[in-house]
Amino acid sequence: SREIRLASRPVGEPTPANFTLATTDLPAPGAGEVQVKNRWMSVDPYMRGRMNDRKSYVPPFAIGEALQGGAVGEVIASNDPGFAPGDLVNSMFGWREAFNAPAAALTKLPSLPGVPEQAFLGVLGMPGLTAYAGLTRIGEPKSGDTLFVSGGAGAVGSVVAQVGKALGCTVIATAGSDAKCDWLRSVGVDHAINYRSCGNLLAAVQAAAPRGIDIYFDNVGGEHLEVAIETARPFARLVECGMIADYNATSAIRGPSNIIQVVGKSLKIQGFIVTQFAGLQAEFIEKMAGWIADGRLKWEETVMDGIETAPAAFLALFSGGNTGKMLVKL
Ligand code: NDP
Repeated sequence: SREIRLASRPVGEPTPANFTLATTDLPAPGAGEVQVKNRWMSVDPYMRGRMNDRKSYVPPFAIGEALQGGAVGEVIASNDPGFAPGDLVNSMFGWREAFNAPAAALTKLPSLPGVPEQAFLGVLGMPGLTAYAGLTRIGEPKSGDTLFVSGGAGAVGSVVAQVGKALGCTVIATAGSDAKCDWLRSVGVDHAINYRSCGNLLAAVQAAAPRGIDIYFDNVGGEHLEVAIETARPFARLVECGMIADYNATSAIRGPSNIIQVVGKSLKIQGFIVTQFAGLQAEFIEKMAGWIADGRLKWEETVMDGIETAPAAFLALFSGGNTGKMLVKL
């Protein structure tokens, strides 16, 4: 069985040299263990933080050891009565083709009509819950609100944009290519802005939202956050989900130059970590299943093939190589 290990800690933008492909012998599963062959694995921006040797909300990856992350696989052998060969399971044992783990580390995939198994790593998985929880619980959307979301064509952002529409918001989304913006319009986004080619992001958002924005869902940070503060209406909510524009920074990051407006406009800026909202899981699946069934929620995925492509799939997140969820098919 093959796995990807962290060879060295990236400085700035990660490179293929930070990763190695290794082969291991997988023993038979021990008492209470289940053996799983992975079919899909996820690469996610948060993994960049775990590559640094710094305490965070998840411990750092260890040099010379297999990376970890979300994966969907099939049970091959089981020494636990709760799992049988053929079961499909979600785990955090990604970046490897197969593994043995205690049954408690596995979750059986629910089955939903018309939903492929890999969707449980994207729209119905961690990124989907991030979007749903952050928007509904921190963004506090009301019908008629104007919602601005950055990283709009990504795994989280594309769900934020469509859930925002389903809840009656006018949605402005940014993305890094015209093709991504066309896709966003095709799923009902009111104003899709290519932030790379628009010239002046502030002017583009002001043109799309002449009365200002009520909610900003931040996946990007940097200039996008500054534009959100500038265009925010009084009492707007800024949902701090991620700041990918700064994940590879090698020097101190300057804060938004207009942060003083937070006071005068009474803005709420709140960050969150998706695991804090694990209690919303059942509500999330029920709502999403409804929106999928009535055609209000669509998704894209970008798939690379084979464990050896996992580092490239991860690196591509930082250059916008994905539309929707970035996945590796094993
Ligand atoms: P995406 O699917 O959105 O992939 C990353 C995207 O970010 C790229 O496709 C690219 O799209 C965009 N991007 C990359 N670099 C830049 C840049 N410098 N400026 C602007 N856009 C950039 O990833 P996810 O949906 O998985 O994650 C989105 C965000 O949500 C990340 O910040 C992530 O860390 C965060 N997150 C937070 C969680 C939490 O619990 N708080 C949980 C999960 C994710 P483009 O072509 O548009 O540039």
